[in-house]
Amino acid sequence: MIDILVIGGGNAALCAAISARREGASVTVLEASSAFWRGGNTRHTRNMRCAHDAATASLSGPYSEEEFFEDLMRVTKGKTDQDLAHHMIRESKSMLGWIEEQGVRWQPSLGGTLSLGRTNSFFLGGGRAMLNALYRTAEALGVEVRYEAEVTAMRIEDGTFLSATANGEEVAARALVAASGGFESNIEMLKQYWGEAAENFLIRGTRNNKGTVLRMLLDSGVQEVGDPTQCHAVAIDARAPQYDGGIITRLDCVVFGIVVNRDCQRFYDEGEDIWPKRYAIWGRLVAAQPGQIAYIIFDAPSLDLFMPSLFPPVKAPTIEALADGLGLDPAALRATVDGFNAAVRPGTFDDTILDDCRTEGLEPPKTHWARRIETAPFYAYPVRPGITFTYLGTRVNAEARMMMANGTSASNMFAAGEIMAGNVLGEGYAAGIGMTIGAVFGRIAGREAARNVRN
Ligand SMILES: Cc1cc2nc3c(=O)[nH]c(=O)nc-3n(C[C@H](O)[C@H](O)[C@H](O)COP(=O)(O)OP(=O)(O)OC[C@H]3O[C@@H](n4cnc5c(N)ncnc54)[C@H](O)[C@@H]3O)c2cc1C
Repeated sequence: MIDILVIGGGNAALCAAISARREGASVTVLEASSAFWRGGNTRHTRNMRCAHDAATASLSGPYSEEEFFEDLMRVTKGKTDQDLAHHMIRESKSMLGWIEEQGVRWQPSLGGTLSLGRTNSFFLGGGRAMLNALYRTAEALGVEVRYEAEVTAMRIEDGTFLSATANGEEVAARALVAASGGFESNIEMLKQYWGEAAENFLIRGTRNNKGTVLRMLLDSGVQEVGDPTQCHAVAIDARAPQYDGGIITRLDCVVFGIVVNRDCQRFYDEGEDIWPKRYAIWGRLVAAQPGQIAYIIFDAPSLDLFMPSLFPPVKAPTIEALADGLGLDPAALRATVDGFNAAVRPGTFDDTILDDCRTEGLEPPKTHWARRIETAPFYAYPVRPGITFTYLGTRVNAEARMMMANGTSASNMFAAGEIMAGNVLGEGYAAGIGMTIGAVFGRIAGREAARNVRN
């Protein structure tokens, strides 16, 4: 019988597999996808957030544990397991070196709209190159990887994992690391919590994170953590594919224009705060609009201020023609733009600070970067909610060991990554923390699972 069975093939799974193997355990990885598509959402990533004491070749300055914790508390509004969060942040300090030891390379931070140069380390070649390095290392260490091995059943008795079944074959192991992501790719499961609106959600990453393993674990008595409606969701180009559109469909131009729903009504302050602090709320905001669609409207002076989407914006010489091109009511869009323009107060535009360009007497207001939309050509991007990953998960302790609903700890079951992200992320998001959760708890889960088998 093998020692450790890892379910999943992304960052969390590979960190767990490598870590368990380095502890001397035999390890098998079951990855639902083909070899080409391996690695779930991790393929799409660019960076990871770790605490560090000083600037490095790829980071522009220090990022203390305290500052990381404060950032986490702010974005989650305190909805986090604070002990576990401290533990994760402490452990993140050694991750930059550990990940590098597994063959991953860093590159100097990218500039751009999310301004992460000091806090986040960027993978040279992106998430796919990062994954390729982890797979190479895992395989060189003797980890067995089985592709197209979607787990469809599990045997768990009284908090003890016995086996998992993939392709009709039952694989028994002495311990389990569940690293199979959230349930974001399962529209039916999303509908249980979001209703019919979920039919209009686009999934930014893999089609494989269907929550099957998560559901089986919860049904076997593992303690649930997190609100099932909480997730990371951004506004993405409505023309993106249903799955795997990745980062090139995200739109970062909300702050430069206005956002209207299909009735041509604005519904939120587009200039509330700088974009890195607000980009992750727009998926939910659009999800709450009729038809789950919205349109970012801006004019010529803003076109070059942001990274464009893969798709060109809709372009027109007048607001009315723009509305026509979007299938909106021209008179209604004209009225909204006129109302907005009339409310704009004079100011000095500066997109790098919270500037003084704002509206007066408008509901909702635009509190920064408000400039009249008046210079042709006019542009628009249609946007829909793009779900990145869900937060409902399995509760774990500091060993990444699953906790049972009856308060005991599971005897041989561990979890890492999205499947347990809700322990740390009650709501909100800080860029790069998805990979931190996967890497830190993956490394711990693999190590502890191996020790569990030895003892
Ligand atoms: C477009 C995009 C960009 C992102 N950018 C970043 C970023 O720059 N930084 C960051 O920190 N986070 C980012 N994230 C979030 C990040 O991708 C995730 O938090 C992280 O990759 C999760 O790792 P994971 O190993 O838990 O899940 P995944 O990488 O999704 O891996 C889950 C794996 O489980 C497999 N699986 C699922 N079900 C089964 C089953 N039943 N049987 C067998 N295998 C199964 C899947 O095939 C997949 O390989 C981004 C996400 C997306 C979609």
